[in-house]
Amino acid sequence: MAKLKIENGKLIVPDNITIPYIAGDGVGTEISPVTKSIIDSAVKKCYAGKRNIEWLEVLAGEKAFDQTGSWLPEESMKAFREYLVGIKGPLTTPVGGGIRSLNVALRQELDLYVCLRPVRWFKGVVSPVKEPQKVNMHIFRENTEDIYAGIEWQQGTPEAEKLLHFLQNEMNVHKIRFPKTSSFGVKPVSEEGSERLIRSAIKYAIEHKLPSVTLVHKGNIMKFTEGGFKLWGYAMAEREFGDQVFTMMQYDRIKKSHGASMAETALKESMEQKKIIIKDVIADAFLQNTLLIPEEYSVIATLNLNGDYISDQLAAMVGGIGIAPGANINYITGHAIFEATHGTAPNIAGKNKVNPSSLLLSGVMMLEYLGWKEAAGSIVNSLEKTFQSHKATVDLARFMENSETLTTTEFRDEIIRNL
Ligand code: NAD
Repeated sequence: MAKLKIENGKLIVPDNITIPYIAGDGVGTEISPVTKSIIDSAVKKCYAGKRNIEWLEVLAGEKAFDQTGSWLPEESMKAFREYLVGIKGPLTTPVGGGIRSLNVALRQELDLYVCLRPVRWFKGVVSPVKEPQKVNMHIFRENTEDIYAGIEWQQGTPEAEKLLHFLQNEMNVHKIRFPKTSSFGVKPVSEEGSERLIRSAIKYAIEHKLPSVTLVHKGNIMKFTEGGFKLWGYAMAEREFGDQVFTMMQYDRIKKSHGASMAETALKESMEQKKIIIKDVIADAFLQNTLLIPEEYSVIATLNLNGDYISDQLAAMVGGIGIAPGANINYITGHAIFEATHGTAPNIAGKNKVNPSSLLLSGVMMLEYLGWKEAAGSIVNSLEKTFQSHKATVDLARFMENSETLTTTEFRDEIIRNL
């Protein structure tokens, strides 16, 4: 078995590869073996032994703590560092002071700056919106900056006092409504951080022949952080992607110098030439528009906190938490961890009723990332066929008409049969 490599920004994928995986806690112990066996069957079916995955279990979470006394052993970090690409089930977040969320720790250690969440609807799955087939978006959420950087001070502490003193006396800030009882948080948003995220989104749109990239922000209120994200994104897109893109900044410049109809013509021509249209929208309007005109949006590039809200709303529009996949990626080093987006679901763990689709579709994203498109496609087709025949685990089956509720392992067998 060989390791993945990255050379000049391109992943070199051998035919026989080792993929480290974290089984996960709670329902993780059920969805991980199911996911592995479906992926193995698809790979076998599509490549007839020419390609192979060797799974390497690495420990994290409760299982790691019970066996080694550490929630995230260095060995596990080493495996992800070395093998570049891995997959993980959900982990229990340890409760108690001083212990970081394991997911955050993995993201920070490997600098996985993109959280990628594709959102699409599968025929047969019941959705709360009227036309779920119009929802087809790819969310690029910035993963390392923003208010999530964890720089905050609690009200009443000497640190909060010190910061308040600095703001009032050295920065001339007098806008804090209740200074004595305020907690404080810092929101770092950088040019490099914004650019690398938006660059990845544009490259993804080009590679997947998608029509647009929308920068979602609150730059109307947070002018330098979220507003910076938008301006740096537009400037980088024009500078680095030239003729491959048409930005709404260009549109505005043409409108100003040559009038609105010329700007409209330039936009229309760019769309005909299949250039990627780079646009932006304020986050609150965006959330409204995802319900009213989802077809207007394809690739979304956004900051960390906005991305958190947006991912969950869009997931709900196509069937919810059990079916939404995700990945954390550093496109420069090649490191990527594909993961179930839900938690350990302790209320249904051990009952053979959990829906494995979130982790399975994350596995599909992994196969696509490796360039094993046939295996990825066969799993997607099989899932669709299964849902269309009204067969699903209870979380989805209870909303379908004339449905047949399958256990987790029956669902696995049905997917493998339909591959
Ligand atoms: P949860 O996602 O585990 O569960 C929320 C609800 O959704 C529950 O009713 C659960 O039964 C249901 N659900 C979740 N996944 C499902 C699936 N695949 N099929 C069917 N139903 C599903 O969220 P929670 O209860 O808030 O968190 C439980 C634990 O998971 C906590 O320790 C939390 O910290 C952790 N967590 C981990 C991750 C991660 O590792 N990525 C993410 C979120 C929460």
